[in-house]
Order: sequence, then C-alpha cells, then structure tokens
Amino acid sequence: MSSLKLRNMTKTFGKTKVIHGIDLDVLEGEFVVFVGPSGCGKSTLLRMIAGLEDISGGELWIGGRQVNEVQAARRGVAMVFQSYALYPHLTVRQNMGFGLKVRKEKPDSIARKVDEAAMTLQLEKLLDRYPRELSGGQRQRVAIGRAIVGDPKVFLFDEPLSNLDAELRVHMRAEIASLHRRLENTMIYVTHDQIEAMTLADRIVVLRDGRIEQVGNPKELYAHPDNIFVAQFIGSPK
Ligand code: ADP
Ligand code: MG
Repeated sequence: MSSLKLRNMTKTFGKTKVIHGIDLDVLEGEFVVFVGPSGCGKSTLLRMIAGLEDISGGELWIGGRQVNEVQAARRGVAMVFQSYALYPHLTVRQNMGFGLKVRKEKPDSIARKVDEAAMTLQLEKLLDRYPRELSGGQRQRVAIGRAIVGDPKVFLFDEPLSNLDAELRVHMRAEIASLHRRLENTMIYVTHDQIEAMTLADRIVVLRDGRIEQVGNPKELYAHPDNIFVAQFIGSPK
C-alpha cells in the first residue's frame, strides 16, 4: 500500500513556479531519498508534505487520506531539519516531549515515550542537559528523538547531517539506517551527499528545477542514468 501519493503537485511563490507537477508514490516503509542541486525544490517539496507550506496545485495523500488542507500536526508526519531547531531554553527531555505536550498528552505518557526514544537513540544520560551542552551529533540525535516520540508514519529529513563533520556523518548515517530497520516507517530524506543517497535509499528521486528527472533504485540509477545530469549526481563520485 502507498504511504504517500503525490499527484501533479505544484508550488508557486508569488508569480514564480518552483515545483512543476510532481507525481510520486512512496510505499509503506520505503526509504526514499531526494537529490538535486541547490534551489531545485527539495525543501519546498518536503515542507509541503509536512504541512509547513501550502500546496498550490495537485493532491497530496498520506496513508490513504487526502491531506491538502490538513494541518501539519494532524498529518502523521515529523520533520528533522538540518539546523536541529531545538529550543535552547528547554532540556533534552523537554525538547523531546514538547510536541506531545502541545497535543495535551498526559505527563506520564509523555515521560514513557521520551524514555523509550532516549533509549533508542542512546540519549538516556543526556536528558537533563540543555542543547548548548551537547555536541552537534548529540543535538541531531535529540532532533531525531523529538520526531520519533510522536510515532509518525512518515519521517521527513532535510539534509539532517550536513552540519556534522565527515566522521560523525558516517556514524549518524548508520544510525539512521538502523533506526529505519527498527521502526519500519516511511522515510523521505533529502541530501546533497551522493554516498548517503546510495547507502540509505531504497529509491532515489533526482530532482531538477522542480521536476523529477529520474526515479530508481541506487543500482539502476548508477548503472543506467537517463542523462548526464543524473549521472553527475549518482554515477561519478565527486
Ligand atoms: P532546495 O531545498 O532544493 O535547495 P528550495 O526548495 O529551498 O530548494 O527552493 C526552491 C526554489 O524556491 C528556489 O528557487 C528558492 O529560491 C524558492 N523559494 C523557496 N522558498 C521560498 C519562499 N518562501 N519565497 C520565495 N521563494 C522561495
Ligand atoms: Mg533545501
């Protein structure tokens, strides 16, 4: 069954069209990676799926429900940003529980879910710290933890590792892969990093100027890019 369905989705800012009719089906539990040059619309597309940006045209379906007009908190998706976007004045525990608190969950239920996510991400010992007391990798783990606690059907990642140094990026990449194996939920992941795309993706979507250039599994794209543009992203390591 499809977890996500995009039908002729478009986005216009003022008079400028930046997303030109995207059609895509994402299967339940699939790990889909969006790649493409800066400005091609990756973040805009994710933000539309997340409900952080209006959909100008077309339809978006999540879990069999048309959600064009459904507000972000009710879509069953969670987004992890490049910049972590943690609240500096809240502890790790409070950051991770924040969304549940907004949804008026009971404190004991919030505590249980936060503890569970903290265990998954090895954050147990850091729960009472503030973001400024954490390393970059730990902060990103908290941001992922905050996304996990709501038990979303769909995870959206917007270049989550690009602020980390190379070594940590490799480590976190493995953690995200293992997280996906355990949670078995649908993931849509934007990256500039070709190796990240190749290792994480069930399927890669190559975007160019707000359009899909090619979709395929990493091996297919690597072996049979439709054109030079795709080959530049997938074929030849830079
Ligand atoms: P990417 O994430 O692939 O780098 P974006 O989705 O951020 O690309 O941007 C796609 C295009 O939309 C760019 O041309 C960008 O300038 C434009 N854009 C993004 N957000 C806005 C906005 N809020 N207002 C106007 N233009 C925007
Ligand atoms: Mg972006």
